[in-house]
Amino acid sequence: KSINDSYGHDMGDKALQVVSRYLSETVREGDTVTRQGGDEFQIIVADDPQLSATMALAQNILAGLRKELMIDGRQITVTSSIGIAVSLSDGDSFDELVRNADTALFRAKEIGRDNYAIFTERMDAEIRDKLAIQSQLRGAIARAEFEVHYQPQVCLKTGAVVGAEALLRWNSAVLGKVPPNRFIPLAEEYGLVNSIGEWVLESVCAQMKVWQDQGLGKIKVAVNLAAGQFANDATVPYVEATLRKFGVAPEYLGLEITEGTVMGDPDKAVAALRRLKDIGVGISLDDFGTGYSSLSYLKRFPIDVLKIDKSFVDDVTTNSADAAIALSVISLAHNLNMRVIAEGVETREQVQFLTDRGCDEMQGYYYSRPLNAEGFAALVRE
Ligand code: C2E
Ligand code: CA
Ligand code: CA
Ligand code: CA
Repeated sequence: KSINDSYGHDMGDKALQVVSRYLSETVREGDTVTRQGGDEFQIIVADDPQLSATMALAQNILAGLRKELMIDGRQITVTSSIGIAVSLSDGDSFDELVRNADTALFRAKEIGRDNYAIFTERMDAEIRDKLAIQSQLRGAIARAEFEVHYQPQVCLKTGAVVGAEALLRWNSAVLGKVPPNRFIPLAEEYGLVNSIGEWVLESVCAQMKVWQDQGLGKIKVAVNLAAGQFANDATVPYVEATLRKFGVAPEYLGLEITEGTVMGDPDKAVAALRRLKDIGVGISLDDFGTGYSSLSYLKRFPIDVLKIDKSFVDDVTTNSADAAIALSVISLAHNLNMRVIAEGVETREQVQFLTDRGCDEMQGYYYSRPLNAEGFAALVRE
């Protein structure tokens, strides 16, 4: 149903012509290809109760379109996504089939570029799930269902807690506990991520003020920033205003970004990060090594801390490739005057390895799970 170039942009008309020609050559005798306009095609496959011809066709189309096209001297990498609806009974209305194909297409794109998906009942349930989260997410702040937990970041040299990462928890009255990995991406999709992000920042600043008034010591708290927040021009002024509002010095706040956070508009991101750095807010690059173009980002962005992703830490003591990656990240960071935090540290052996190799800080279940504010303060006072 939908064909985009490798950047997700609609293709030019020339490319569409090549694609439609390809489609008309690929489908079987007796099947029909129509173009709805734009980059949407519909293929009507006749008489295929076992779906074998349909699946073969989908694979053929994906394979055929995967190649590079030369159009007007420009090389274009084309991938396609295919959503398939199956008409098994005569009762299905055309509108319903189109809707089902759209649902399947959505699923195919979620799996990743260059895939097809067939509409099934189970997928229907998944989408109902997402809609349930969406409907509950809207009122979650008003119903006070969010809470910020704090996971200690520990200096490997001294063993002292030097900071924390703020991690959002959602206990929904209707859905129960929903993990942030599940609802943050949906919040982005539904345009709720800015208001949730503002709530987190306010909660953290209010909490830091309380801790500072209680003389808890120098605790830096790092807040995760979502891509949607970064794309918003109001975010940097908002961060400044919030720090001022709660009387928290900017040096105590850190922001965690990922390569994905800044990929949308890197130039804008550089400007925003510079501004934050100028006022004294620290920037950590999260999940380092799992995204794209890590090194060019490192050069351009004013980053203070690299976080070695948990996926490299997991087997750092047993897998030589992971060990090599961890070592490289540590020396890279130090050569660029950045600190390194290892995340997801769970064992004594990992702590030993990281300490010996000069990693600065660690965060993980080995020391502590994320704790609520009281639990965190109690741990620091110990
Ligand atoms: P992340 O930023 O990579 O956060 C680290 C995740 O690893 C957290 O999961 C943390 O609980 C978990 N973790 C820490 N140490 C260990 C360990 O030793 N073992 C294991 N197995 N896991 C460990 P959590 O809290 O479920 O958060 C998941 C993701 O949700 C975060 O990944 C972050 O991307 C996102 N997230 C959480 N809170 C916020 C928020 O306030 N705003 C935004 N934008 N994203 C958030
Ligand atoms: Ca993080
Ligand atoms: Ca992380
Ligand atoms: Ca991670």
